[in-house]
Amino acid sequence: MEKKGRIGIPRALMFYRYVPFWRTFFESLGWEVMVSRDVGKRGKIIYFEDSCLPMKLLVTHATSLASETDHLFVPRLVSLHPKYILCPKFRGAPDIVRLAIEKKVSILDETIDLRTRKHSYRRAFLKMGEKLGASPREIQAALSRAEASFSTFQKEWIERINQLPTRDLFKLDIPTPALKSSSQEAVSPCHCEGVERPKQSHPVSNEEIATLSRQGGITRNDKQGLLGGSEGKGGLLRVAFIGHPYNLFDTDINKDILGLAKQLGMRILTSDLLSEEVIEHEISNLSKEIYWSSGREIVGSLFHFLSGEVDGVVFITSFKCGIDALLQEFVKRVLRIRKTSFVPFLVLSFDEHTGREGLTTRLEAFKDVIEERKRQAPNNKHPIPNKFQIK
Ligand code: SF4
Repeated sequence: MEKKGRIGIPRALMFYRYVPFWRTFFESLGWEVMVSRDVGKRGKIIYFEDSCLPMKLLVTHATSLASETDHLFVPRLVSLHPKYILCPKFRGAPDIVRLAIEKKVSILDETIDLRTRKHSYRRAFLKMGEKLGASPREIQAALSRAEASFSTFQKEWIERINQLPTRDLFKLDIPTPALKSSSQEAVSPCHCEGVERPKQSHPVSNEEIATLSRQGGITRNDKQGLLGGSEGKGGLLRVAFIGHPYNLFDTDINKDILGLAKQLGMRILTSDLLSEEVIEHEISNLSKEIYWSSGREIVGSLFHFLSGEVDGVVFITSFKCGIDALLQEFVKRVLRIRKTSFVPFLVLSFDEHTGREGLTTRLEAFKDVIEERKRQAPNNKHPIPNKFQIK
């Protein structure tokens, strides 16, 4: 099919969660999707004052695409939850990008705010589809494919993280290795280029998509299998990496900490393994309500994993992120009061470092701490002495 033109998706912020949906939607409508490349070691990050690194990276990626595309996709994300909001910087993102690219290209910047409209997510894509000249029927078909692609991707996510190099995690044309043999027969080619999906996929409902419920989230009963049993798969150390998705998966921010962790023999677990129910349970008794949806996910996951289940927990934050600074302090205080932390805990704050040596040293030291802890308390039954907590 002849392409209608090019849509650029900056590799930043919520790209690291929703790209299967976004990409499949636009490709299904006949557009070529261009995703910006990693900035890498020699790339120059565009600087503007008082911003966190993820926002600087958004501008850097958007600028790199501006002259090569017909439209840039930078949605105005206000809320992806019926009650709680995203970081306020997200809602200004299209305006910041517009200023930076000096109107070189049109921006698809529909607002998504689930607090005001139940189907805001879907409506935003309907509107964008109309703007791109698609018929209602084409838009509905594209939405269904996007939902199916997103759903499949989420179900395979933890295996993807553990089996693929970080640079390939978001390439939809690369299948998840562990599922290759078992699901090959059940997979039929999708009409959208480069994407395969199961014949019997379980597309999420519009409401589920809209409320960001985690497909593949687990309850207490089926958790053990997914975590790889008490010893982890193949005797690997089970370590939960918690943080905003861009902090976890953008190698320009974290210098590929996940790749390094896998080299050190760690099986990676993330918040995606936990259902909304489990996360809400963990934060239900807090004295203060957390209003940021990503903050709720982070704090709930930290409390959950720090209470056992895993061998270690790493919280990845960005320097200059006010939300993370508050959450970090809050979690530490609650843990101090509860005195029930059983698991080694490492907090890493990233800024524009280029070297990886410091990170390697800290992660190796963390691994030593985990192993020492396992030798001394093999069943994770005793509260952890302070010397096991690395900050
Ligand atoms: S949550 Fe923090 S890191 Fe993310 S955009 Fe907001 S300030 Fe930046």
